[in-house]
Amino acid sequence: MGSRGEALEEVKEERPVRSEDYLALLYRLSEAGVEARLSVIAGELGVSAPTAAKALAKLRERGYVERRGFSYRLTERGLRVAERVVRNHRIVERLLTDVLGAGPREAHELAHALEHVDGLAELADRYLGMPDRCPHGNPVPARGSRRGLPLSRVGRGVYTVTGLGELRGALEWAGRLGLSVGARVEVEGVEGDHLLVRAGGSVVRLPMDVASLVYVERAG
Ligand SMILES: [Zn+2]
Ligand SMILES: [Zn+2]
Repeated sequence: MGSRGEALEEVKEERPVRSEDYLALLYRLSEAGVEARLSVIAGELGVSAPTAAKALAKLRERGYVERRGFSYRLTERGLRVAERVVRNHRIVERLLTDVLGAGPREAHELAHALEHVDGLAELADRYLGMPDRCPHGNPVPARGSRRGLPLSRVGRGVYTVTGLGELRGALEWAGRLGLSVGARVEVEGVEGDHLLVRAGGSVVRLPMDVASLVYVERAG
């Protein structure tokens, strides 16, 4: 038997999602400039639309979330919670990469489970000397600011990656292309709603909504 023991599968149709996860997601969507429609929220959290709608209705009743037309946003009260969870997430990611040797992708997955433990994030924060960015280049709320521009908004040329938005599509593409903070990418042109990008030796057609979540600075 392996030292990790046997994993017990959750007996659930959908993975459990906490109220805090909804609020943190609304924060990340707003940060990325993505409209927080129900389908987007459900897709990011891996739940059905009715499940997400029910959870969001409860959060609205409790004053954490409001709805404008078809999109959801945080109230002041919701923002305070979301900032704490996102802050925890980004600090714990740094603990996982800088101290425990996790890769950025693995750190992100684990941080989703650990971001709800305030005490852990506080210890990590002190140990790491109050980092202002996560390993994906995203600012810790109320500390750093975003560096660079979205890849979708720059012209042809060679760039250095400064940040990767923490949404599913962007992290999946980044994993596939080996994109991480500090990597070089070359924008070769636009083809419909795709950006032609050379990364790691090959040219790929990057969907524009993904390109808008990859932040870059012109390479020096
Ligand atoms: Zn993350
Ligand atoms: Zn991160």
